[in-house]
Amino acid sequence: MGCTYPTIQWYQNGGLIFTDKASQEKAKTFKDLIQQVHEPGICGQCGGCVSFCFAGDLTAIEMGPEGKPHYKDEENCLKCGICFLICPQISILDEEIKEEYNWKLPIGNYQRITTAISTKKEVLENCSDGGVVTSILLALLERNLIDGAIVSQKTGPFGRKPIIATTYEEILSAAGSRFIGTSQVEELGNYTTYSPAMRELGNIRNLDLLRIAVVGTPCQIHTIRKMQNLGVTPAHVVKYTIGLFCMENFSFNRSEKEYIEHRLGFKMEDIKKINIREDFIVTLKSNDVIYIPLKEIDKLARPACFACTDYTNDFADISMGGIGSPEGYTTTIIRTEEGKMMYNEAKRNNYIQEISKSHKNYSLVSDRLDKLTYFAIKKRERGLFTLEKLKKGELEHLKQMKHDEEIVT
Ligand code: SF4
Ligand code: SF4
Ligand code: SF4
Repeated sequence: MGCTYPTIQWYQNGGLIFTDKASQEKAKTFKDLIQQVHEPGICGQCGGCVSFCFAGDLTAIEMGPEGKPHYKDEENCLKCGICFLICPQISILDEEIKEEYNWKLPIGNYQRITTAISTKKEVLENCSDGGVVTSILLALLERNLIDGAIVSQKTGPFGRKPIIATTYEEILSAAGSRFIGTSQVEELGNYTTYSPAMRELGNIRNLDLLRIAVVGTPCQIHTIRKMQNLGVTPAHVVKYTIGLFCMENFSFNRSEKEYIEHRLGFKMEDIKKINIREDFIVTLKSNDVIYIPLKEIDKLARPACFACTDYTNDFADISMGGIGSPEGYTTTIIRTEEGKMMYNEAKRNNYIQEISKSHKNYSLVSDRLDKLTYFAIKKRERGLFTLEKLKKGELEHLKQMKHDEEIVT
C-alpha cells in the first residue's frame, strides 16, 4: 500500500500547509476517519482527533454527548489530515514509530523487566498492583524533574477523570482503579473504565507546563508517539510516558449494568476498587474480594478494544501492570533511557523497592516474561483476527463482537 499522507510543512507561527496540490487533494481528513474508524466501530473515543484538530477555535469537530467525535461545522475543516494521522486506529505512521523504538515481537523493545512495590504507605493504601506508577510520579515531581502529570483521578465510586496533576495530593488522588462515567456520559446512563487522557493533553497548551509525564493506555501512548513524530503541539512537552498494560477497557449502559449486577450478585455502588489482572478483581466496600474471569465480562469490553493489538504498551518509556508479579506488586518493563532514569530515580530515593533475587518472594516472579508474552500474543491475535474479519467484510460493525443475545436486553 502506497503512502497516502500529505507532505506538510510547519510555519514558525504554528500553522501548516501542504507543500503540493497533489498532497492537498490526497489528504485524508475527518471524513476518512468516519469511514475507516467510526463506521466499523473501532473508534476508541480517545478524543485525540478533537483535542488536536488543527482548526482550533474554528471548531470543525467536537465530542458528542455520548463520547464520540463528530463534525460540528464541516465548513471549518482545513483538510490538514492531522486528525487522521494521529488516530491510534490508523496505521500510516506505525512502521516509522516501530523503527524509532526498535519494536519487536512479542512485547516490544526493553532493557530490563522488574518487580517492585511502593514504599509509601499512603500510596499502598489506595493503589492497585504495588503503586509503582504513583510513586514514580511522586519522585519525579518532588525532585523537580516534571512540572505535572496527566493522570486519572477518582471522582467517586464510579468516577474517574483525567487531570493535570501538579501537586503531591493530586498525584496521590489518582492511585487505584475504579469504574467511571464521565459526567456527560454518566448522565446518559453510560459507564466506562476508560479515562480519556488525550483530552486533558489538549488543555496543556493553555498552561505554563513545559515538562510533563503522561500515564496512559497503549492507544493513548501510541497517539502521543504519532504526535511527537509529526511535531504536533503540545506533544513536545511530554517528557516521560508511563504505559499501563491493557487487555481491554469496559463500557456499559444502564441495562447492561443491571445485567452484571444480577449476574455477579453485587451492586456497582458497593464497589471499593477494581483491578484487572489475569481476572477482573473487584474489592467490595465490605472488603470481600471477587475474582471474575475476563472471559465472563468480555462482552462488556468496549468494541474498539477487540481491534487493538498492543497489550504491554510497547512504545512507552516504561510499561507497568500487575501481570507477572504477585498480587500487590508491580511488573515494570523498562524500555528507554527515560524509562530507566525514572525508575532509578524513584528507587535511589526510596520511593520504590525492587524485589531482587535475594527477596523471599522472588520465586513468585520467575515466570514474568512468559506471562507477559502469553497475554501480549493473546491480545495481538484477537486484534488481528478482528481486523481481518472487518477487512473481509465478515463483520459489519464491532458491536457484533460485543453483543450477543445474552447481553442485549
Ligand atoms: S481541520 Fe484537520 S484535524 Fe481538524 S477535522 Fe479537518 S482534517 Fe481533521
Ligand atoms: S480513536 Fe480517537 S482519534 Fe481516532 S477517531 Fe476515535 S476519538 Fe478520534
Ligand atoms: S484495549 Fe486498551 S489500549 Fe486498546 S483500545 Fe482498548 S483501552 Fe485502548
